[in-house]
Amino acid sequence: MRMPMSKMLGFMETIKFKEFEIQVDVEETRDFYKHQNSIMEDCGCSDCKYFHDTFSKLPFSVYEFLIKSGVNLQKNLNDEPTGVHCAVENDRLIFSVQENIFIGKLPQKELEFDYDESNFNFKVYFYHLNESEIKVQIDIAAN
Ligand SMILES: [Zn+2]
Repeated sequence: MRMPMSKMLGFMETIKFKEFEIQVDVEETRDFYKHQNSIMEDCGCSDCKYFHDTFSKLPFSVYEFLIKSGVNLQKNLNDEPTGVHCAVENDRLIFSVQENIFIGKLPQKELEFDYDESNFNFKVYFYHLNESEIKVQIDIAAN
């Protein structure tokens, strides 16, 4: 049984993203996402639907990292009043701006990446919101 005091020091798994080893509390992260709205609950527009049904399920390296970490990419944490901030044309994503959170510890204060993958440019920024919460900002643009 987990004691409440151990919450911030829960069991951490080491999950790699690129060359970095990141400590993740997968169970706490899953638990956090259980209480968030789905993108489709917040917005039913066709751009959000494409992101929810198709794009968020593609095997991009950052998505694979986040899924392993307990993140649910079909849930909505964005600042936009509705849905995920993205644009789709002819069933192809033009850009998207997303935010996710997981519980864990970065090997350094922040991590920043800028790389191309599958004809998209990814700008990915990890930073600590506090001791145990890490925000991941992902900006994707079609090349
Ligand atoms: Zn929408």
